[in-house]
Amino acid sequence: MKVYISADLEGISGMVSWDQMKEDTPEYTKAVELMLKEVNAAVEGAVKGGASEVLVNDSHGYMRNLPIEGLHPKANLISGFIKPLSMVQGAEGADLAFFIGYHAGVGTRASICDHSYSSGSVFRLSINGKDFSETAINAAVCGHFGVPVGLVTGDQETVNQARVILPGVLTVATKVGITRFAASCRHPLEVRKEIEEKAQAALIKFKEEGFQPFLVETPVTMEITFMQTAKADVAELLPGTERLDGRTLIYRGKDILEVYRALQALLFLARSVS
Ligand SMILES: [Zn+2]
Repeated sequence: MKVYISADLEGISGMVSWDQMKEDTPEYTKAVELMLKEVNAAVEGAVKGGASEVLVNDSHGYMRNLPIEGLHPKANLISGFIKPLSMVQGAEGADLAFFIGYHAGVGTRASICDHSYSSGSVFRLSINGKDFSETAINAAVCGHFGVPVGLVTGDQETVNQARVILPGVLTVATKVGITRFAASCRHPLEVRKEIEEKAQAALIKFKEEGFQPFLVETPVTMEITFMQTAKADVAELLPGTERLDGRTLIYRGKDILEVYRALQALLFLARSVS
């Protein structure tokens, strides 16, 4: 039984601002320690639930946040950047996925650091006509590999959004957003306890009744509205894109995997200008 964990930072209890997530600051050192402990709680729950293998994918920013010497000894770690499958690198071959420390999609009110893949570039992101958060698109890539998502943790809006698209998923709300940069945070000890319990419960549920992988219809149409026209100007250099208006383009792919890889390329292009 292999459990895959994609770990982000914004949804960890205590995180309320980008300032806490800037590398080489005292706040960042504390932030990754809090992230590590929520990840380790998920690993511990998975191991108690019978996981023989746990793979953690560091999925925030430049993706080398988690200090490996503090990681739960039963887990392995994917660290570093660039990864073709980004936040879901390594999901293929797992039995069950957990999303830890996730955040809500761009435009969500009262949700910490709401964004979809790039706070500076993406105004809106949709797949097959529906707004997709990182939870949704990452769950769809996991679904492409036949891997269901059993646990999502993050702020209240994040888990609300997860429950809509992933029926039966277990969730842990780490905090309740007040605005984009303020939240009522639960105590980390309580959050970790619940993450461990829910992780273990997810494995039991997986064995007893299973979870449905999240699948999107193929072919897949992705529509991205960028923050500025210049970003769309460079993004449309990628063959296969179609410009709809000043800031919006669409990309059609045979499946979510192809679209996900195109998304990574489009974001690299978009980040090159402002
Ligand atoms: Zn992040």
